[in-house]
Amino acid sequence: MPTIPVFVATDRTQRDRSNDFNWCAPGELVDIGSSCDRDRGNPDGACGCCRSFTGLKSRRSTTTAEVALLSMSFAEYVVAHHASLLGIGLPDDTARAWAGEAARDMVSLAAAFPAGTVVERRGDEIVARLLPPTRNRRADHRPAR
Ligand SMILES: [Zn+2]
Repeated sequence: MPTIPVFVATDRTQRDRSNDFNWCAPGELVDIGSSCDRDRGNPDGACGCCRSFTGLKSRRSTTTAEVALLSMSFAEYVVAHHASLLGIGLPDDTARAWAGEAARDMVSLAAAFPAGTVVERRGDEIVARLLPPTRNRRADHRPAR
């Protein structure tokens, strides 16, 4: 089974920012939703939508996500997005179109980071908060015994 890079909800680094929150289930697949008029362009706005990811199952929000390599096909990933969008009442053809687009966007964003990276969202930007430990890098800096 091939793996694809995706973003999943995580508690890691929660409270690094005073306005962090996580209402998603741990490991839940997440998407990036659009922002409301009040918070648009302001990741630290009162609503929180410009700094949060949306859980595909719960449709709840988290400010922290993590890059995971999941054993699923891209088609299955699209299905997860499609089901989520149907769940909020979009018509099937719209949900199908948006799901394909969202899945492509999220995979290409997630592929920019090593698996295990904790990320946050600052408006339209996804930024690494915490990189995974790199065994090779650590070995390079440690004198041989
Ligand atoms: Zn908002």
